[in-house]
Amino acid sequence: MKQINGIAASSGIAIAKAYQLVEPDLTFEKKKIDNPNDEIDRLEAALAKSKDELEKIREHAKKEIGDEHAEIFSAHLLVLSDPELIKPIKDKIMTENEMAEAALKETADMFIDMFKNMDNEYMRERAADIHDVTKRVMAHLLGATFPDPALIDEEVIVIAKDLTPSDTAQLNREFVKGFATDIGGRTSHSAIMARSLEIPAVVGTKESTKIIEQNDVIIVDGMNGIVLVNPTDNEINSYKEKQAAYEEQKDEWAKLKDEASVTSDGSHVELAANIGTPEDVEGVLNNGGEGVGLYRTEFLYMGKNQLPTEDEQYDAYKSVLEKMGDKPVVVRTLDIGGDKELSYLDLPKEMNPFLGFRAIRFCLENEPIFRTQLRALLRASVHGNLKIMFPMIATLEEFRQAKAILLDEKDNLLNEDVDVSDDIEVGIMVEIPSTAVTAKQFAKEVDFFSIGTNDLIQYTMAADRMNEQVSYLYQPYHPAILNLVNNVIEAAHSEGKWTGMCGEMAGDSIAIPILLGLGLDEFSMSATSILPARTQLRQLSKADMASYKDTLLSMGTADEVVAFVKEKTEQ
Ligand code: PEP
Ligand code: MG
Repeated sequence: MKQINGIAASSGIAIAKAYQLVEPDLTFEKKKIDNPNDEIDRLEAALAKSKDELEKIREHAKKEIGDEHAEIFSAHLLVLSDPELIKPIKDKIMTENEMAEAALKETADMFIDMFKNMDNEYMRERAADIHDVTKRVMAHLLGATFPDPALIDEEVIVIAKDLTPSDTAQLNREFVKGFATDIGGRTSHSAIMARSLEIPAVVGTKESTKIIEQNDVIIVDGMNGIVLVNPTDNEINSYKEKQAAYEEQKDEWAKLKDEASVTSDGSHVELAANIGTPEDVEGVLNNGGEGVGLYRTEFLYMGKNQLPTEDEQYDAYKSVLEKMGDKPVVVRTLDIGGDKELSYLDLPKEMNPFLGFRAIRFCLENEPIFRTQLRALLRASVHGNLKIMFPMIATLEEFRQAKAILLDEKDNLLNEDVDVSDDIEVGIMVEIPSTAVTAKQFAKEVDFFSIGTNDLIQYTMAADRMNEQVSYLYQPYHPAILNLVNNVIEAAHSEGKWTGMCGEMAGDSIAIPILLGLGLDEFSMSATSILPARTQLRQLSKADMASYKDTLLSMGTADEVVAFVKEKTEQ
């Protein structure tokens, strides 16, 4: 047995065989061939296998994520049957005695270069399609397997260097029992999604892909950030017991599903959930969520090859609002950038994507995209209790500009005789230190704040949230963070506004007592954290926690804060 340590990203224990989601080496040694007809046969066989796989993946995607998301695979299938691509490959084999691999690569590269540089967005997307598809054909020519999460049909633990949010969205909950990645942190989006999918996960293990072989037996302990490779029978049995104990604990928490989130001294706070898709609402309600504190709408824009239309967005927002009834739903406008890419927008690679052209910065520069989303939201507003918030606000001007566009679209809709709700609160995420520091000025203009600690911590501590090398500096309990959070809450309250928190810190058992004492009004977290948080809150006294506020805010280090909270709350 070998133990690999990483960062605990999603609770639970999984035991299954490893499935290496690592792209095979697609390099080859170029040589001339003697028998072109054999080469054509090899090419045809590789094309046929690729088509077969893509059809399976498309069917799977239709079932799991809907017809529109499956479109991308139809586009890939079209590429494979396109004579304009296939004929030149065959010609190269027949007339230049090229091996199939070289003919495929040279032809594909030629088309990719040509399309990539065109002005037309549709043609640029074709470059990406050809790239993806020819990789699969190449793998078959080289006798390598091209891993595909959608093709997994037995219980496995996925091992990958990294999982993008769209890879994570494709994981099939029935078969993927857990995952371990080399890179990433607790607040990288794949970790956040693992929690909403309730898949145990360990990230930032640095070397899982090197140490673990395909089909090794793996245990992922998502509570302690441990991955065990080829454990002994005794170890497996002991982890099976832990798994059973965790399930029992979940049953215990479930008893509080319909209970109020009240502290032992009678204060109510709102426990809401963060979601990425309308399908996540079921988990929110099953876990007793009192609202949606953050709907990350960018997932609507991902895993496809074009922007979602106004109607597609309207349907998604309406569905969430209707399912939540009169419970509040805070929808965040598009927060693309950082670790969330939209390949079809073809934005230039940046040196520091988390500090770059993202979120509201992108939306204010791309007004038509922003306006489409706002119209969809405004139209959906009559179907529930909608609140809108803008991500990554750094200056008051940005907020004013975004709000003015929202009001302009509202006027447009009213002029078109479309109903729009009259009382939509408009707030901002506080995830940039400049905004946290000047919260007083913002509080006069916004309806609410939602503190995004995932980013606020990385910007305050100058420690990339994705980089496990500096994860020791990513300190939610650092007094600098607590003071910023306190500043935001006080500023809001002085103007009669409310403050929520939708960063992962809101569901953390050490942070919860502190945030309660600071007066946070709404805690929004992964749905699976709600019941443990409610259990904890019911045992805490808000008055006691508030009395520790000055002591906590004046402490020197995160460790002191943790020790103090543990002592006071007997954790
Ligand atoms: C945050 O930054 O805390 C947040 C909730 O947004 P995201 O994790 O999507 O960046
Ligand atoms: Mg953020």
